[in-house]
Amino acid sequence: MILRGLMHLIFSWNTVVNNRTITIGGNSTHEHFHPVDDFSSMVESRQGPETCNTYNMLKLSKHLFLYKNDLKYIDYYEQALYNHILSTQHPEHGGLVYFTSMRPRHYRVYSNPEKTFWCCVGSGIENHEKYGELIYAHDNDDVFVNLFIPSELNWKEKGLKLVQKTDFPDIEKTTLRLQLDQPDEFVVGIRCPAWTKPGEMKVTVNGNSVSGEAVPGQYFPVNRKWEDGDIIEVQLPMHTYGKYLPDESPYLSLMHGPFVLGAATDSTHLEGLIADDSRMGHIAHGQLYPLDQAPMLKIDGESWEEEVIPVEDEPMTFKAPGLIVPDSEDDLVLKPFFRIHDARYIVYWRTGSSDEIDSIRSAMSERDSVLLALEKRTIDEVATGEQQPESEHNFRGEATESGVHMDRHWRHASQWFAYDLKDPEKEAQVLRVTYFGGDSDRHFDILINDQKIEEVNLDGFQGDGFVDVDYQIPESIIQEATDGVLTVKFSAHDGSLTGGIYHVRLMRK
Ligand SMILES: [Zn+2]
Repeated sequence: MILRGLMHLIFSWNTVVNNRTITIGGNSTHEHFHPVDDFSSMVESRQGPETCNTYNMLKLSKHLFLYKNDLKYIDYYEQALYNHILSTQHPEHGGLVYFTSMRPRHYRVYSNPEKTFWCCVGSGIENHEKYGELIYAHDNDDVFVNLFIPSELNWKEKGLKLVQKTDFPDIEKTTLRLQLDQPDEFVVGIRCPAWTKPGEMKVTVNGNSVSGEAVPGQYFPVNRKWEDGDIIEVQLPMHTYGKYLPDESPYLSLMHGPFVLGAATDSTHLEGLIADDSRMGHIAHGQLYPLDQAPMLKIDGESWEEEVIPVEDEPMTFKAPGLIVPDSEDDLVLKPFFRIHDARYIVYWRTGSSDEIDSIRSAMSERDSVLLALEKRTIDEVATGEQQPESEHNFRGEATESGVHMDRHWRHASQWFAYDLKDPEKEAQVLRVTYFGGDSDRHFDILINDQKIEEVNLDGFQGDGFVDVDYQIPESIIQEATDGVLTVKFSAHDGSLTGGIYHVRLMRK
């Protein structure tokens, strides 16, 4: 049983990291996995990966590394630690982040220490003591260096202290000094990161180079009789490269070594930057900027990486005027994402070749303007069948169940279920309900504040896709609603089910 449990964990890790993880090390949007072959919600949603997910992936990586001693777990650990975890705490006021939006030119918001205690604050406080974990490992005799973080290892039983000093990543090297009670022969294994090229990581002891082959993803073993005061120096050359989204859609994230490079685009409309205690305070609710107007990368040919140019005298800082379009944006500065705060930013760039860019823009503009118009009309909405959105809308019901069909969550009932939606300005006019076109023999009523607004009979003849149906809400219900609360109830007729409800949206004109 234990072994089977372990196999599940290894499978989960592989599938999440290989198929669902983006460069910052996070996964999912609005707390749910989206289809593996469709990452569009990742770049369109204001709700990107949740910090708790990465917290749990680090925990799992740690256990699997300690069990399997495979450095692929540390490669992921390092990537997620620097790019997601480290980016989720504000360097001055210490606020913690829930969602890290990947929508170009959106932003993330931070917790308020007095008012906001989300899940990502609880796990978030634990997150930032992880920097001291897993830097070193050992077996009976030997010691292993996994991460390049300033630190001190004290292995009392062995009489060994290892002091690591480094300005990595601003300087591409680290130095380790051994303090030994007495000379001792053992191996110091240095992790050769997957982001180096074969043979590139160089190791010296007391200034003399150590022979051996540096194989990315393996330890570089230094075996000798060590003496007190010996100094190991490790050169860690980094390169710039790009990674597309896992579904291979044309969105590219720029990397340098294990670091995600982001660009701060501006700091306008950062509404709710430090969250209040409102129900949706953890979501960056400021306006979405149109995707088609976001800077893009023009990728022509194989060696485009050469166009990412280091800025002189500013470590880990780059510009890419030859890649970024339009020209008016080519001054944008690229730097590690974890150093970008209080700003709108780009991590994933839409890419295309020079002659494609214009047509890409107009196609995006069409798709995006539909989404933005919908956003503008939406007052409140419930992603039905999803735990968090349902609980945030006071879900209740009898004889009701939920599930997933064609990658979308639904809820139905043989009795009833209901949500509270909020219309504080009393401007709602339309209730939009999403069904599956093939649902048949479903007879039910829709009620708002106990008044029936529609009797619905689904006949199954609406095709194999999802269908939005708009219902007019009588003005009297809106005006009489106490505090603007509209209780939307789906109530099945005797012997029938409600339709599978895939989304409920309250809209203004
Ligand atoms: Zn969380």
